[in-house]
Amino acid sequence: MQNMIKEAYRYASYSLGEGAPADYIPELAKADTKRLAISITDLAGRTHSVGDSQVRFTMQSISKVVLLATALRFAGFGGVFARVGVEPTGDPFNSIIRLETDSSNRPSNPMINAGAIAVTTCIPGETPGERFEHVLEYARALLDNPELDYDKEVYRSESETGDRNRALAYMMRASKVIDGAVPEHLEVYFKACSLSVNCEEISFLGAVLANNGISPRGGKMLIEPFHVKVIRSLMSTCGLYDYSGEFALRVGIPAKSGVGGGIMGAVPSRMGIGTYCPALDPKGNSLCGLRAMEYLSQALNLSLF
Ligand code: GLU
Repeated sequence: MQNMIKEAYRYASYSLGEGAPADYIPELAKADTKRLAISITDLAGRTHSVGDSQVRFTMQSISKVVLLATALRFAGFGGVFARVGVEPTGDPFNSIIRLETDSSNRPSNPMINAGAIAVTTCIPGETPGERFEHVLEYARALLDNPELDYDKEVYRSESETGDRNRALAYMMRASKVIDGAVPEHLEVYFKACSLSVNCEEISFLGAVLANNGISPRGGKMLIEPFHVKVIRSLMSTCGLYDYSGEFALRVGIPAKSGVGGGIMGAVPSRMGIGTYCPALDPKGNSLCGLRAMEYLSQALNLSLF
């Protein structure tokens, strides 16, 4: 396995120097684009890594998986999917257009920003702090790091510049898809996006999803199997922004990317995969990460299709 990851690393590293970090969240623009890591966690809970697998970065959109798992836990399938659909859009992650043109006014799916904000509103609590605590506590279990926390600088940076997400939330409130205080929903959402993780931890999350929700370390059921099925299918159809179709064809692994540079993959009954490199392509996916996923999919015959 270690040799296979080394080969994937070598193949992925041909793309080092291409792409650029996200800069619409100013703090993310500071990332070192030479960092590259690949981790695989198998279903016995062993993690194999090559490269900068201890470097911390923010989950960004990968947290949409954690938000969805948390919301499903509290509100159930019916509660969550009353507010959000399950259809891929083919639009960029922060697109606003379908909130106006779709007759239901609901966001299309939980893997785009509008959908994740709607999902966040299903997480209960008296204060945004209490609501985020639910997310954080669950994230600590799902990523197997009891010390996990959010990055205060990235949170501040995103909070200061997140007007597009505010616009999405106010649109949804105007059409009664969500209710409650928008700034409070966004506090929870932005903090979740700012969860600070490393490549090994996201590969562990992938392994939990690959293992039908059971922790590969300790055997505890962390996500109920039906919710795993929902999450994995949405990752397959909507996880890579408007590259999801091509990713299904080229890689064929349920996965979720984030503009922090991470990609998390869950190969059912096989393994979890994490990749990290903050240089992104124009759609917001890590370029080296995509290459690493392509290599591993072919070399280990991981495509579901
Ligand atoms: N925090 C980012 C945003 O809401 C997440 C985007 C992403 O990773 O796709 O804009």
